[in-house]
Amino acid sequence: MAATQRILQPGEIEALDRISFPRVRLPQQPAALFQERAARLRQLAEGSPIADYLRFAARIVEAQQQLVATLPPFGPPDAPAVRRAAEAGMPLLPASDPLPPPWRAVLRDLAARLQADAGLPAALQPALARLAHMPDAVLDVLARQALGDNVAHEDLAAAPLVMAALQVVFAARAAAVPSHAVPPASPATVCPVCGSLPVASVLRIGGEAGGHRYLHCGLCATEWHMVRVKCSHCESTGGVRYQGVDGAPPVVLAETCAQCRTYRKIVNQEKDPFAEALADDLASITLDLLMGETEFARASGNPLLAIERPLAV
Ligand SMILES: [Zn+2]
Ligand SMILES: [Zn+2]
Repeated sequence: MAATQRILQPGEIEALDRISFPRVRLPQQPAALFQERAARLRQLAEGSPIADYLRFAARIVEAQQQLVATLPPFGPPDAPAVRRAAEAGMPLLPASDPLPPPWRAVLRDLAARLQADAGLPAALQPALARLAHMPDAVLDVLARQALGDNVAHEDLAAAPLVMAALQVVFAARAAAVPSHAVPPASPATVCPVCGSLPVASVLRIGGEAGGHRYLHCGLCATEWHMVRVKCSHCESTGGVRYQGVDGAPPVVLAETCAQCRTYRKIVNQEKDPFAEALADDLASITLDLLMGETEFARASGNPLLAIERPLAV
């Protein structure tokens, strides 16, 4: 047998590493993603101090699952847009562009479904009634404020619903993007598809992505790879540490950075295979309370939780 094995040079090893796992994981089946998220929220609600909120969030996500199936399919991005994004290292379909038009219909439908839900928190009814009567232009302003984490006090209750509607259309649009069209966006701390911030990161199990850490976009649900040694907010490799809640299983940890003094949670599927970035972030609010007593500010919010607090910039 003529063995032709040879020792790989460092550059070749890196090249192999780059192709051995996906750089981005697009939300190819948004309905399945919402279904898994809703199931996880219901699971995490058991015994949680914020069980009612998690069950309410699960109802929103179940509605998202139904709504995403009602959307007409998006086409793939056009070739000039792909080329521009690749040349500039910019997100492919930035959320700062005009919003995909179906988003308002999705929001109105979501509000109607929730209004008809007997289990809805009574405090939310006025927000739903307000949303139902808002003209398109006002809804678009509200969407911009929600995307910028800059919502006025009177709109706080509506903000998670606005974000939920936007998530439906942005995930559906990202699902139509071929992975080879996704540019390596710069900075690497924003979603290469829509330019939004990650809600959390996830250490994946299974398949080619297993053992790798991905940042999970809070808007379009695209995941993109980032090595664990880097801060997911400033890319510094100088001081990433982890903090958890004493006595709690280490499924969710706060990844802190000594450089930018922020934290973002990392959700570890090796500790719990059902862990899901947005759901586990929302359910681990005890960890946020603990981190509130430290020097570290939360790097970015959770789209399904609107609270008035200063985030890191
Ligand atoms: Zn995104
Ligand atoms: Zn940092």
